[in-house]
Amino acid sequence: MTIQWFPGHMAKAKREVTEKLKLIDIVFELVDARIPMSSRNPLIDEIVANKPRIMLLNKADMADPDVTKQWIDFFAAQQIEAIAIDSQSGTGVKQIVTVAKEKLRPKFEKMMAKGIKRPRAMRALIVGIPNVGKSTLINRLAGKHIAKTGDTPGVTKAQQWIKVGKELELLDTPGILWPKFEDEEVGFKLATTGAIKDTILNLQDVAVYALRFLAAHYPDRLKERYALSDIPEDIVVLFDEIGKRRGCLAAGGVVDYDKVAELVLRDIRTEKLGRLSFDRL
Ligand code: GDP
Repeated sequence: MTIQWFPGHMAKAKREVTEKLKLIDIVFELVDARIPMSSRNPLIDEIVANKPRIMLLNKADMADPDVTKQWIDFFAAQQIEAIAIDSQSGTGVKQIVTVAKEKLRPKFEKMMAKGIKRPRAMRALIVGIPNVGKSTLINRLAGKHIAKTGDTPGVTKAQQWIKVGKELELLDTPGILWPKFEDEEVGFKLATTGAIKDTILNLQDVAVYALRFLAAHYPDRLKERYALSDIPEDIVVLFDEIGKRRGCLAAGGVVDYDKVAELVLRDIRTEKLGRLSFDRL
């Protein structure tokens, strides 16, 4: 995934989503359950404005379940209905239609009151930052492989609707929005979870962030994974310890810090340290 989000591209993405919003009744805002705040688009409230919206905490299978529950309560307190889902296996996905129906009930009741006997299907648009799982969810909802995984922004084609049962129609192309770039910590979280490419930030910096986070929030899992009796305060010593234990060595037997960084990030992204949540309340 190589999307360069220059101001011009952001404006275009916003325009494209705004156009699509005219066609739909409800927005499914997809975020990464491991980073439900950091993976939101910074202008989402402004862009979506008055459309009903459901927040979908995707990849919940990779997130810390207790923390996910806290986030769902947090959003509920802000009148935002959030559902934890796993688009890959389908867990939670059925709930989307139920919640959408509930949200749109007043609108459809109004239509019926005006004499429309059979309400049409609800029309929905999935929006989210790259790699959050938009195509995977579209495929899951469609029940077959329609949307290709990996998307090309800026390619215009006719909008098509994907039928999800009788009650829901989904625009076949999701709305792709940019992540938050301004905050350095957000950038590290996006990189740690694989939402942005490793080449955007310095790999060792990302691994330093990730290791410090693990030391603070998941010390036992860090110790267990790398067979550490304690976690050294000094991050360089921690890199050395992990590198020596896991054979991340350069010529001459010195620890190769890039290799350590790659190993740690790969371990995190492949759940070798279990289910992790990087945004905390
Ligand atoms: P998009 O860019 O938003 O369309 O994201 P994709 O649908 O291409 O998904 C990005 C990556 O995340 C792919 O490797 C998917 O297999 C993976 N993915 C998507 N949803 C889930 C999920 O719920 N759980 C897990 N574990 N992986 C997911």
